[in-house]
Amino acid sequence: MPSEQPKKAERRSRLKALDYSVVQQCMHCGLCLPTCPTYATTKIERHSPRGRIALMRAVADNELEFGRTFAEEMYFCLGCLACMTACPAGVNYAELFEEARAEAEETNLLASPRRNLIRAFGIKWLFMDLKRLQVLGMFLRLYQQPGLQTLVRKSGLLNLFPPRLRELEAMTPSIQPHYSADLIAPITPAAGPRKYRVAMLTGCAQDLIFSDVNRDTVEVLAQNGCEVVTPPSQDCCGSLHAHNGELGLAQELARKLLNQFPPERFDAIVTNAGGCGSHLKHYRKLLANDPDYAKRAALWDSKVKDVHEWLMEIGVKAPLGEVPKQVVTYHESCHLSHGQKVTQQPRQLLRLVPNLELVELAEAAWCCGSAGIYNIIQPEMADALLDRKLNHISSTAATVVATGNPGCLMQIINGARKRGMNVRVVHPVTLLAEAYRAQTP
Ligand code: SF4
Ligand code: SF4
Repeated sequence: MPSEQPKKAERRSRLKALDYSVVQQCMHCGLCLPTCPTYATTKIERHSPRGRIALMRAVADNELEFGRTFAEEMYFCLGCLACMTACPAGVNYAELFEEARAEAEETNLLASPRRNLIRAFGIKWLFMDLKRLQVLGMFLRLYQQPGLQTLVRKSGLLNLFPPRLRELEAMTPSIQPHYSADLIAPITPAAGPRKYRVAMLTGCAQDLIFSDVNRDTVEVLAQNGCEVVTPPSQDCCGSLHAHNGELGLAQELARKLLNQFPPERFDAIVTNAGGCGSHLKHYRKLLANDPDYAKRAALWDSKVKDVHEWLMEIGVKAPLGEVPKQVVTYHESCHLSHGQKVTQQPRQLLRLVPNLELVELAEAAWCCGSAGIYNIIQPEMADALLDRKLNHISSTAATVVATGNPGCLMQIINGARKRGMNVRVVHPVTLLAEAYRAQTP
């Protein structure tokens, strides 16, 4: 019977195989520490970017065995990338983090029947074909019909389920009555002369929960001279997979999107989801070793634009219609601000909307705890971060919170509802779309 040792030797360590210039970039200055939400909460070096990078380097240098504690640490990290913004040495934490999580999956150190089942169903099956996700959405929508959900909740039936499942039931977002394909034509002409031809990515969860934001995005783009191509059936961008250690599946999905949206046919490929955009802009790196796709992926990266970024780049038209007078504050999605460095454009767009007063949010770029599926797998830390965010929102006295990522939208909507806060949580493009609609006779 083969011993465990040779098996470990056979596996090619991702961290050891990484370009050593990436692994040894950190100069231990600690400037990232105050910006790291997990370190700020625990004050434990291991939970800081510097600590995590030191662990990764120790693995790469053969000084530390890739063990369970290490793997757990990689999943305690939010992947918020605030450390990358703070780092003067330009450490590519995003790459280290994705490789470390992928290694954690390859080692199977965190495997358990429950975890394996959830990952096999969610990451490896449900999000690999969005038609499956839409079917699940239809069942959820049925369950959320007025009366039925209340009846189930009041009946005590949910008490038969484990507490964590009951918490997830309470967190489940409302499924829209219509998905994006029902609201958006495959090709939406520009309002006025066509200046650009763009593709619009409708996303996975975004399509189920915020298809109205997708419709608003297409309307705003059309108002700004874009012909918008929105195929009714699209694939997931693979961000969920890449951030959760499934780089092979992320590559598979990237190839599908490259086939569906040949980048040479568009002036821009637009996304309105900060988390997806951050991943979508790195297909070149993801497919660097694929001779059939590497060139197309490089062109793709140059064409992917977050919607705020694209609108400011083309010189957005200020809406003339007035929306009701309201005070709005802006929460920055981590992957929009730290991942894509899109920080000013959403604020500039919000300032264009007549009657909106923008007030700054303290720690606007501090993670809200959503972080992909972090709020599901690390609920305690996610709740602490959400509390911190809601406290800051409350102190602005804003009645509207704008944010450009579906995960943040869901997290803040849920948190505000639980606290009984009277705030509307919206994507910035929705406010723009409302102002454009108000100017149309
Ligand atoms: S990604 Fe976020 S949580 Fe992780 S080390 Fe960097 S700042 Fe900390
Ligand atoms: S700021 Fe950059 S160089 Fe300094 S400790 Fe953090 S990761 Fe290392």
